[in-house]
Amino acid sequence: MSDVITPDTLITEVFPRLKPLQLSALKRLNLKTLEDLLYHLPTRYVSISGTEPITNLVEGDRMVLFGTASNLKATKSYRSKITMATGRLEDSTGYIDMVWFNQPYIARMIPEGAPLKIEGKVASRAGKLYISNPEFEVLESLPNLGTESLFSQTQADQTNIEIDDQFIETFYPESRGITSNWISHAINKLFSLEVHHALADPIPESVLNELHLPDLATTMVWLHTPKQTSDADIAKKRLAFQEIFTLQVINAQENHRLSHSQGFVISNPDLKPVIASLPFKLTKAQNQVVKAVVGDLGKNTPMNRLVEGDVGSGKTIVAALALYAVVTSHLGKGFDTLQAALMAPTEILARQHYEGLQKLLGPLGITIGLLVGSGGEIFPSKLDPDKSTTLSKTQLKKYVLRGDVDIVIGTHALIYKTLQFKRLGLVVIDEQHRFGVRQRQALARDKEGIMPHLLSMTATPIPRTLALTLYGTLDLSLIDELPPGRVPVITSLVKGDDRELIYESLRRELLAGRQGYIVCARKDIADADKRDSLNLKSVSEVANHLRKKIFPDFKIGELHGSMTASEKDQIMNDFAGHKIDLLVTTTVIEVGVNVANASIIVIEDAGRYGLSQLHQLRGRVLRASHQPYCFVTTNSNSDASIERLQLLCTIKNGFELAEYDLMKRGPGALIGKRQSGISDTAMTALRNLKLVQIAQEQAKIIVSEDPELYNHPDLADYVDRFTKQLHLE
Ligand code: ADP
Ligand code: MG
Repeated sequence: MSDVITPDTLITEVFPRLKPLQLSALKRLNLKTLEDLLYHLPTRYVSISGTEPITNLVEGDRMVLFGTASNLKATKSYRSKITMATGRLEDSTGYIDMVWFNQPYIARMIPEGAPLKIEGKVASRAGKLYISNPEFEVLESLPNLGTESLFSQTQADQTNIEIDDQFIETFYPESRGITSNWISHAINKLFSLEVHHALADPIPESVLNELHLPDLATTMVWLHTPKQTSDADIAKKRLAFQEIFTLQVINAQENHRLSHSQGFVISNPDLKPVIASLPFKLTKAQNQVVKAVVGDLGKNTPMNRLVEGDVGSGKTIVAALALYAVVTSHLGKGFDTLQAALMAPTEILARQHYEGLQKLLGPLGITIGLLVGSGGEIFPSKLDPDKSTTLSKTQLKKYVLRGDVDIVIGTHALIYKTLQFKRLGLVVIDEQHRFGVRQRQALARDKEGIMPHLLSMTATPIPRTLALTLYGTLDLSLIDELPPGRVPVITSLVKGDDRELIYESLRRELLAGRQGYIVCARKDIADADKRDSLNLKSVSEVANHLRKKIFPDFKIGELHGSMTASEKDQIMNDFAGHKIDLLVTTTVIEVGVNVANASIIVIEDAGRYGLSQLHQLRGRVLRASHQPYCFVTTNSNSDASIERLQLLCTIKNGFELAEYDLMKRGPGALIGKRQSGISDTAMTALRNLKLVQIAQEQAKIIVSEDPELYNHPDLADYVDRFTKQLHLE
């Protein structure tokens, strides 16, 4: 062991005798350094005031109980031959039976007379209460509180904060080899080594004082060894604040940079040629967003706008107008025109945009390129000016670098990582929530330091706290109406295997010349084991069944993520060209795909998806003026799951569904934890608007005084690490 122990010291240096199983558990838990260990947050606390004397137990309660174990036996049930362990837990007020089904060995793990803590649900059989399959822990001794303070309910409730009388147990996320107990002991050792005092506190002292927050060392003590539950609450809040404050510092720094950087000034672009060629009139909401975008382009700082609009609200045309404005602008000073990029989350969507923009902007003399994994395409072809032609990615990249391509469309990864432009004036990101949220800086590649404009579009409605934190630097526009004549999707929930209604509706639509989607959770029967245990339907299974048994007279196609890009393209083209009637697919069609003739979608095992995602999926049929239908199926009997799916049937508005998801499942359900890069604790705190606002205010103050954080090295360091983590995808 090196003599100086710091938060950066490896766990293995302080605990040198770890076994291989423990080492791999630490790895799985992502714990390397002592600091990691200190930041390993307890998932729950059990305070003694939440326990009950055994005599008071009622069926259905979930309880923590302390007592003495006796009569432990491994047995077999007489009838069903299920093996089990049974035993009895006793305190000064009474006893209760414990049963562990299928785990007879537990009888050997608990010594007769041992002090035991258990947690589980109280059940009853033949009028007798018992606890089945409780979690248990053999203690050194029972909590030393005496029956009075331990079990006298009134006393426990009233004097919740009797500092020394409370006994609070801390539970950590575990992994096989590392128990919650081990972590408790390890952290206590770190405390005795004073490691927590050496942690760098990213929150500046002025902010701590202003907001009366505990310093980081105190926070750690309160977090891991709280004397009262309110300590733990404050500690968690302070850590959540730390994270959200850091995000806000990153936002504030970026805003500072943006307001000091130069954008291409594009004044009064002439959009008439595009608008005149549209087969429809823009909605009022679309017009307003276009106006905002044109306003942004005319300023000398770069545009930074997020357009939120429900599925089918017509965001693409807004993007097309922005693209046209930028690539037709003449900025004098010798260089001719600017280029623009459009990034989409999937190849299918990229290709769809390529084809759409070709039709819309091609006739106006705009050159458009497509860059996807399988290769490149360019429009117009030199040989046939009405057609697109394929070319190698290398060749396309060369053209782009030379400035011979006006608009490049492609998947995010390819454009963002591999392309260089001659003069990039605008980046459009479609379905922005599918990407990481902070790639703004990386796009600023202009050699003369002029930053391209940014327009991003999403159908995921973002509640205000999230918008403030994750998109704190973006101006927001809403498209809050659908084009006229849209008929809302009729959504029905089908439970169990009641397929007749679904088949009838499908047949009716297909016979009327419409098309449909069937969305399955899995592509193949290859992982049959897993599928059977979850009882999920797979693409190939469903497709075969339909072909053979149900719709032999219709053409059934299959689409899933493990097909090659050109296979996928082929299928999508066939579907768009109505060579396929019914497309059985995984969620690869989730975003953006637009085949107007499709009028019916069946989403199998729908309980697996968030409401926002389901809403996106059903948006695939909200594309024209015929009546669209959506069926969601589930085998689940859980009330919560059925309630959610019923909401989908009644609520047509994506924003309302997102609020529900936010409330019930937290922000992670909306944006995805991996995409946001923030922790569960901070995610939870994101429901707290006040906390988010205060974090933003404080961050602005710090950054306005010290944009580069020269005077706050600990914060600068933390920001640095945080940014890396956000980009790590
Ligand atoms: P999303 O907002 O989901 O990306 P799209 O831009 O794909 O929606 O538009 C959905 C469909 O609505 C497209 O077929 C598009 O041509 C059509 N559309 C867009 N704007 C209008 C409008 N103002 N009037 C009629 N149809 C429109
Ligand atoms: Mg779209």
